[in-house]
Amino acid sequence: AVPLVSAISTTYSAKNGLLIRNRTAFENSRKITAIVFDKTGTLTKGEFGVKEICVMDSNIDKNELLTVAAAIEQESEHPIAKGIVRHAKKQKLNLPSISSFKAEKGKGVEALIDDIQFKIVSPGYLKEVGLEIPNEAFDNSSETVVFILKENTLAGYLKLTDSIRDESQDAIHLLQKKGIKTYMATGDNSQTAKSVSDQLGLDGYYSEVLPHQKSEIITELQQKGNFVAMTGDGVNDAPALAKADVGIAIGSGTDVAAETADIILTESSPKDITRLIEFGQATYRKMI
Ligand code: ADP
Ligand code: MG
Repeated sequence: AVPLVSAISTTYSAKNGLLIRNRTAFENSRKITAIVFDKTGTLTKGEFGVKEICVMDSNIDKNELLTVAAAIEQESEHPIAKGIVRHAKKQKLNLPSISSFKAEKGKGVEALIDDIQFKIVSPGYLKEVGLEIPNEAFDNSSETVVFILKENTLAGYLKLTDSIRDESQDAIHLLQKKGIKTYMATGDNSQTAKSVSDQLGLDGYYSEVLPHQKSEIITELQQKGNFVAMTGDGVNDAPALAKADVGIAIGSGTDVAAETADIILTESSPKDITRLIEFGQATYRKMI
């Protein structure tokens, strides 16, 4: 037979947007002292709009740049990719076929079009390979910028915007009131990260982090004596979700994140995290 408290809590959790995959992690949720949020798709909606197309190669025009990017991004499930493809479809652009598609988590994607190699990558990737980042790319702090390389030369870049989820502000305030520290770890550039962090009043943020670095951040906080929860939606968040004491996936995210997490927020609302903690406290108080 199912113990009564467990049966009740399962019904309650389902009604409150929580899918509990690991009971021990749920039981431990009342011990959380720090939460690390992924930005894209977690604190923000993860619905990117293309705001500007900037061309740096005189042989290419804006539509061609967008066409190339969208053709390649059709193969990716990243929110940036979906935004680019949506924008190209709205313009009714015909997308050419591609081959040899490759994705590198936290960095970008590449493929061949007519035997020409294109890459769509993060600013961090440009730094890594020693390409100079054009100053104009970051004249507005809240934009996410991805660069398009043609045969490893900068062909242009796209500026995209996402928006903060309505529930994020409340969620952060409520957690802080409970004495829980709130942090954000994102693969996005530092200016965008700072802008989101300032708007939400987070206790701190980490930007341009690669997937393995997200999990190192969790370890660091644990070593400082914290009981750490991590919230994410992407393939890139999976290692950190696994490392955290309580791994929480956003329901609208990828299967990989959901399969790695202890708890899934079915309504995709970060506010349900406070419900999770209060519910954990109430459930296990009753049992003692
Ligand atoms: P986040 O932590 O915000 O979810 P990711 O770790 O998934 O970000 O990605 C980090 C950065 O890598 C993105 O901001 C972007 O610059 C680049 N990137 C990742 N995937 C793609 C993609 N499919 N197309 C273009 N850029 C990408
Ligand atoms: Mg994400």
